[in-house]
Amino acid sequence: MQRITQKAYAKINIGLDVLRRREDGYHEVRMIMQTVDICDNLILERTAKSGILILTDKEELPVNQDNLIYKAADLLMKEKNITEGVSITLTKRIPIAAGMAGGSSDAAATMRGLNQLFELGYSTEELQKLGVRLGADIPYCIVGGTMLSEGIGEILNPLPTPPACHLVVAKPDINVSTKFVYENLHADSLTCHPDIDGMIEALRTGNLQGITDRLGNVLETVTVREYPILEEIKELMRQEGAANALMSGSGPTVFGIYTNRELAEQAAQAIEQKGMAKQVFVTTFRNDI
Ligand code: ATP
Repeated sequence: MQRITQKAYAKINIGLDVLRRREDGYHEVRMIMQTVDICDNLILERTAKSGILILTDKEELPVNQDNLIYKAADLLMKEKNITEGVSITLTKRIPIAAGMAGGSSDAAATMRGLNQLFELGYSTEELQKLGVRLGADIPYCIVGGTMLSEGIGEILNPLPTPPACHLVVAKPDINVSTKFVYENLHADSLTCHPDIDGMIEALRTGNLQGITDRLGNVLETVTVREYPILEEIKELMRQEGAANALMSGSGPTVFGIYTNRELAEQAAQAIEQKGMAKQVFVTTFRNDI
């Protein structure tokens, strides 16, 4: 095989709880991850010249070893002593530094793609074990879908797919550092935790209202306090017919869940017209990647 295309899908968290800060500085989480139908495209091609070449349509992204695509390719190629080279062309659609695991998903797609391109023979579990070295979200991004994610994010258990619905995903023009959010989270003194078990039960019974009633993300206590616009967007999403709205990951992306496509489209328009976010998508959950 000379060339392969891979899609890298974004995720949102419909529930995100932090249980405690571990001694090593990592946080123990309990999250419900969900793939959404927004994706980057990667074309991976074998090259006679050795090395990893990254090409992208987004000027602000690094194309050197700081890119997670590079790190993922370098890891696999060193593990298997590949002396040939690879060029990887990234078309970016997932908002950057948004709480949607865009970089992790690109890294996961790179690992899946190289595994096929060079016939490396890794199982999914082996790719996940390697991937966690580069980032806690990568094992999830290798498989996607609806998952309960625990530990630092590497312990995964599949959950039933939520009922069909429509999403408005809005990324305001704010830069949020995940590091800042976790550093300012007082994990041990949180008084309010999302009802993750109730959410799991709602997923098992296919109860969309049970899900939307339980949307919760403890990281909002840091990011929304810092950027009140996020609460304003969530409020507008609800006024425009969302069953509920939430911030994804450490933010600043927020999403609203709608049972009606037209309402979702109107809400997206209202957010754009008010200039509250530049990157706004109307999309759906996605369960095969
Ligand atoms: P998470 O939800 O896992 O916290 P995120 O959506 O907040 O991820 P990313 O889009 O993955 O954040 O990117 C965070 C940083 O990583 C960016 O500032 C960017 O410069 C760097 N980065 C490295 N490689 C990539 C990549 N392939 N795509 C996006 N960002 C990348």
